[in-house]
Amino acid sequence: MDDPTKARVRLYLRSERARGLNAVPAREQTEGRPFSAAQEAANPTPPEPNAVEPAPRVAPKAASPQALFPGAVPHVKATGFAPIPVDQPFSAPLLSTDEKRQRLTAMNEKEVRLCTRCRLCETRTNTVFGEGDIDAKIFFIGEGPGETEDQTGRPFVGRAGELLNKMIAGMGLAREQVYIANIVKCRPPNNRVPAPDEVATCTPYLERQIEIIRPSAIVTLGLPSTQYMLQTKLSMGRMRGQFHAWRGIPLMPTYHPAYVLRNPTYETRSAVWSDLKQVLAKLGLPIPKKNV
Ligand code: URA
Repeated sequence: MDDPTKARVRLYLRSERARGLNAVPAREQTEGRPFSAAQEAANPTPPEPNAVEPAPRVAPKAASPQALFPGAVPHVKATGFAPIPVDQPFSAPLLSTDEKRQRLTAMNEKEVRLCTRCRLCETRTNTVFGEGDIDAKIFFIGEGPGETEDQTGRPFVGRAGELLNKMIAGMGLAREQVYIANIVKCRPPNNRVPAPDEVATCTPYLERQIEIIRPSAIVTLGLPSTQYMLQTKLSMGRMRGQFHAWRGIPLMPTYHPAYVLRNPTYETRSAVWSDLKQVLAKLGLPIPKKNV
C-alpha cells in the first residue's frame, strides 16, 4: 500500500472512531466496486483513464473496543437502532395502570435484565431499569448508572441521587411520585459518558418506557440525555430554561445533579430551580417557595 492510500485509510479509521463507531461492524459495500479481495480477483475493476489512485478496497477494520474502553470484552457488538423522530406522535392508546405494570415488568425481566446487546453488559453488576410511579406526570432522564446504582439496580441512589431527591422535594413532590430512568441501563466503566453506539442500542428501552408511562412532562438531566432526546448537539446553555418537545411531550432540559454538586454556585442552583418551576407551572402544580 502506498503512502497516500495509507493516509486515506488512517483518516477513515480516525473518523470512524471519532463517531464512536469503533465497535460497529463495517457495512459491506453492495454497490459499485467489488468489496472483497476474492470478488476483486474474480472481477477486476478496470482503471479509469487518468484516474487517481483508487481508494483501498479493504474492509475498514473496526478498532477493538478495548482500545477505547479498557476492560471492555470484544465479542459483544452494539446493535444500534435509528432513534424515533422527536416529532413523531404516539399512535398507541393510553394504557391502564395494570397494563403498564405488566408491560414494564415484562420488559425488565425478559429483556433488560438479560440484555447483552452492547459491551456494557460485560462489566455491569445489575441492570438499572428505572423506578417510580408508572402513572407519573414527570419523567426524569439521567445519563447512566454510577457505582451505587450498579450495586443496587436502582437509579439515582448515590450522591447525585440525594441531590435529585432534594430537587424533587423542592418541587413539593415525593420521589415516589415521579419516574426516574437513564439513557443507558448499565453502568459505563469508570462512570465514563456512554458511547454513541451504547446509547443507540439501549434507548429503545427508554423510549418504550416513556411510551408506556406517557408522562405529561420530561426533565432531562445533563447534556447526554438532553442531546439524545432532542437529537441535537447544542450545548446545555442553549437548551436549558425553555421547553422543547419529545413526541408531543413537553421536555425541559436542566443541569445534571452531579454537575450541580461540582458547581454549587448560586447561578447553577437558581437555573435548576427556575427550570423545575417552569415544569410545575406547565403542569398546573403549585410552586413551593424555595431558597436556592
Ligand atoms: N447519574 C445518572 O445519570 N444516573 C444515575 O442513575 C445515577 C447517577
